[in-house]
Amino acid sequence: MTNAQKASTALLDWYDDNARVMPWRVPPADRIAGQRPDPYAVWLSEVMLQQTTVAAVTGYFIRFTARWPTVQALAAAPDGAVMGEWAGLGYYARARNLLKCARVVSENHDGKFPDNYDDLMELPGIGPYTAAAIAAIAFDQPEVVVDGNVERVMARLFDISIPLPTAKPALKAKAASLTPKHRPGDYAQAVMDLGATICAVRTPACGLCPVSDHCDARRAGTAPDLPKRTPKKPKPTRRGIIYLAQNQTGEWLLERRPDKGLLGGMLGWPTSDWTDAPRDEPPFAADWKIESGEVRHTFTHFHLILSVRTAIAPADCTPSTGFFLPKTVFRPSDLPTVMRKAFVICRAS
Ligand code: SF4
Repeated sequence: MTNAQKASTALLDWYDDNARVMPWRVPPADRIAGQRPDPYAVWLSEVMLQQTTVAAVTGYFIRFTARWPTVQALAAAPDGAVMGEWAGLGYYARARNLLKCARVVSENHDGKFPDNYDDLMELPGIGPYTAAAIAAIAFDQPEVVVDGNVERVMARLFDISIPLPTAKPALKAKAASLTPKHRPGDYAQAVMDLGATICAVRTPACGLCPVSDHCDARRAGTAPDLPKRTPKKPKPTRRGIIYLAQNQTGEWLLERRPDKGLLGGMLGWPTSDWTDAPRDEPPFAADWKIESGEVRHTFTHFHLILSVRTAIAPADCTPSTGFFLPKTVFRPSDLPTVMRKAFVICRAS
């Protein structure tokens, strides 16, 4: 047995006893007994897990699959219902691509996900990582699945000090060298679990690690400092104004944001542009009150600070944007997080 085979075998043995329980996952004993994961569940979980933690995703996954138990059911859902259910999970382009992908699988693939990397890559919203993860986990294809946890484990096992992102190809090559032909789906999940639970970011628990005998960084004493990273540029801060208004009957003024761009397709309050010097252009003329609290929110590429204005619309008001939504239909949970923060400030005033 080669060293790589010994390491992957040790990881699989560890996974059989220590696999994390997740609602989209088939436990290793059931999988060995022949139970296959539902590709729909694997796909949905992998899309939700992009840039998001397991803890944050679990509730969303349970609600989604209770409401839309199959890819055909999801494909038939109204856009607004799916965007509303996704609200708060962030990175809203994922939700739009989720719907597009569900509709392509439902209409062009008879509701069945392709079982290989190349065909999965043809689907909307599926990139190299997600295609590899679905092919491996749902269809037991020996694809190389590399997320942040796997990068960390590989950097340490092979004591690679090249900083990320430059190190990505080298780390993927090392991950490929360990990926077994036997049980590749469970193996992919085993490395992710090891990175998430034992080979942790600052404090690897090497004494509990099933592959410590194969780990160069443990021997060299460099594990806590790996992987190295090229320092990121500081994020700029943009500013804006957000307008929360009700009409005379208590209906809220909301708008559906354009499909393209940040928070695309989501429900939200009207806002100014988000720049260094935003223009104060409210959706209707009124005596707008400046609230004392500010919304602070961080997106991938910038920090945002929003000043909050509130008003009651005059009876004959025709806003320049949006529509008044009846109180009985309005659900704050349908709003993305940055919009909910503004609502909390408005309610507290
Ligand atoms: Fe990570 Fe330590 Fe295991 Fe190496 S021995 S893979 S550093 S937990």
